[in-house]
Amino acid sequence: APARTPLIAGNWKMNMDHREAVTLVQRLAWLLQDAGHEQEHVEAAVFPPFTDLRAVQTLVTGDRIELAYGAQDLSPEDSGAYTGDVSGAFLNSLGCAYAIVGHSERRTIHGEDDALVARKAAAALRHGLAPVVCVGEGLEVRQAGRHVEHTVEQLRGSLAGLSAEDAARIVVAYEPVWAIGTGEVASAGDAQEMCAALRAEVARIHGDDVAAGMRLLYGGSVKSSSAPELLAQPDVDGALVGGASLDADEFARIVRFDA
Ligand code: PEP
Repeated sequence: APARTPLIAGNWKMNMDHREAVTLVQRLAWLLQDAGHEQEHVEAAVFPPFTDLRAVQTLVTGDRIELAYGAQDLSPEDSGAYTGDVSGAFLNSLGCAYAIVGHSERRTIHGEDDALVARKAAAALRHGLAPVVCVGEGLEVRQAGRHVEHTVEQLRGSLAGLSAEDAARIVVAYEPVWAIGTGEVASAGDAQEMCAALRAEVARIHGDDVAAGMRLLYGGSVKSSSAPELLAQPDVDGALVGGASLDADEFARIVRFDA
């Protein structure tokens, strides 16, 4: 199987203004550099609010910091009369490598459905950004034992219309809604079960090579204490980290999960 570089992605959500972002990235960069971090070995990425991206770009580029960054969302459109939306073209010109699409907070609070998520994923790809496509079941669905079929179905809908070539550039994040921001992390076995099922679905649609190369992340209350066991699972290729990514020391420990 092709080697998949683990991706540790920090989703800051609506936290940190552009000055706080600079302080956090400087501390993170210092910690990672001090630990001999290499992006080729484990890729670290941060997802600040839109308003921080220019500051992060200036810092990362100017100081040649080994850190990728991306946006938490993007418009499905390229430009025009879409007040308040942000184009993938603008994110690309700010040096973003990624854009999260379909985070459960967007799906719940903003009513985003799989069809819109698929359009956002396509927009990201059009603009040279790798979409981090989030899927995951709520508590009732898991309690009813339908979590695998539900989440696989969500992935199918969220990737609708993508070519195999496009699919080869995406990242998928399995984020059970009951584990996000709750302190209740999925067991390593649950994360592995779902990531294996998602990879099998990608193989069914786009073939074994695309599936074998795709990075599948787990997200939901990941901390440095839980990261090593989660990331040791054969189909878990990284983590999407919310709360714990706001603390540079803790996030750096997660990035160094295999040290
Ligand atoms: C997230 O928002 O993607 C997330 C996983 O949050 P937390 O780590 O805080 O549960």
